[in-house]
Amino acid sequence: MNKKTSTNFDIFMAWLIRTNPGQKEFHQAVREVAEHIFPYIEDKPVYQEMRIMERLSEPDRVISFRVCWEDKDGNININRGYRIQNNNAIGPYKGGVRFHPSVNLSILKFLAFEQTFKNSLTGLPMGGAKGGSDFNPKGKTDREVMRFCQAFMSELAAHIGHDKDVPAGDIGVGPREIGYLFGQYKRLTHEFTGVLTGKGMEYGGSHGRIEATGYGTVYFLEDMLKHQGKSPKGKTCVISGSGNVAQYACEKAIQLGAKVVTLSDSNGFIYDKDGVTQEKLEFVKELKEVKRGRISDYAKKFGAEFYQGKRPWGVPCDIALPCATQNEISGDEAKTLLKNGLIAVSEGANMPTSLEGIRTFQKAKILFAPSKAANAGGVAISGLEMSQNRARLTWKAEELQKHLRRIMTEVHSKCLKYGEEKGGHVNYLKGANIGGFKKVADAMLAYGVV
Ligand code: NDP
Repeated sequence: MNKKTSTNFDIFMAWLIRTNPGQKEFHQAVREVAEHIFPYIEDKPVYQEMRIMERLSEPDRVISFRVCWEDKDGNININRGYRIQNNNAIGPYKGGVRFHPSVNLSILKFLAFEQTFKNSLTGLPMGGAKGGSDFNPKGKTDREVMRFCQAFMSELAAHIGHDKDVPAGDIGVGPREIGYLFGQYKRLTHEFTGVLTGKGMEYGGSHGRIEATGYGTVYFLEDMLKHQGKSPKGKTCVISGSGNVAQYACEKAIQLGAKVVTLSDSNGFIYDKDGVTQEKLEFVKELKEVKRGRISDYAKKFGAEFYQGKRPWGVPCDIALPCATQNEISGDEAKTLLKNGLIAVSEGANMPTSLEGIRTFQKAKILFAPSKAANAGGVAISGLEMSQNRARLTWKAEELQKHLRRIMTEVHSKCLKYGEEKGGHVNYLKGANIGGFKKVADAMLAYGVV
């Protein structure tokens, strides 16, 4: 960054922090992108004059609403629902819905901002959004979850539509919740349209959606390694999380010959020195999706070690796949991973590595795939679910697997195009940020000031 750009960057960040007080995750996500965009637009004054970065960092719309629902004991509960529509320059708003007690405006704004770049990287016509609620589905009965989802959708329905905004799942929102949300939308509007993705196969879902994010994260890893003449085969892999993304990242890593030794949830992690097999993974899927149990049950069932309240980053490995939540790898944990021989990180979760962690990985010049590139497979297949819904067709499972593999390679190529540095090192974060920015920014330029 030259001196003038550095001053402009500081002015921009000061403005962002002043106008969004206390929203630290949002500040972090914007900073991570702006650090690459400001030098990129140094010699492109039109992006500066039209204030593209500033406009991208101010969501088109922030919707907040009350959600009232009755629990099984007849108590009235009040939660807060949100939808952040960040930018629709290149297509209808698109992004998941998260139900977790930690949900707040800062977290959803960071996710909606990131989603804008990720969706652009897929090459599909989708803008960026995110939504959710501080509702905690854990420990609730199916009927309670249903009543919450119906109450949530009663308000959200007014703001979404298949050409307007198409939500999907995220943390705490899986097939069960999508079913309840879609059912309520259909009831309210008397319409059957592809207004949500991640739907069941019986009612407009797409083959390959459930696996897409996890598989895509490992495909991206495979492409990074291949670029260096390596492969995942025989590598030891540490995974965090045991939900949708973690399960399918684990499955694809096993299929490609890696040895996965950890999985986790918010209570702690399991360390299976013999490696997670497909059979053991089937137990995890059943445990999490049907029984809604804890990962410690894996340790009991298979005699693995369980570390209560700990994250898995102290376990020696070649590859780390963080697939749980944001800021789950600190600067110190990044150093420990490097000390233990880490060669690559592919982020399945959104922004799982802290800024200090990213700087540590980048300084060490290991392969580091940021979430907006590495986990783009999920939204890519969601985009294709939208296409199938519009055409009223269901494509074959093999076709979708081929599309996913192709799209992840295209995302990787975009990162190479903008991220390859002198000496051959690839700065994937820079590549993803600029690659995602360019298409959205050029569309915004075409529209003038709107
Ligand atoms: P799930 O709800 O299926 O699983 C989340 C997993 O992460 C669970 O194991 C959960 O444990 C754990 N977890 C959540 N919060 C915390 C926390 N604060 N500390 C420790 N562990 C935690 O969600 P997904 O797998 O869908 O999402 C995981 C990540 O991937 C998120 O960052 C999400 O934004 C991202 N992502 C998901 C996509 C998708 O298609 N689903 C697409 C792109 C990104 P517990 O059960 O104990 O809460």
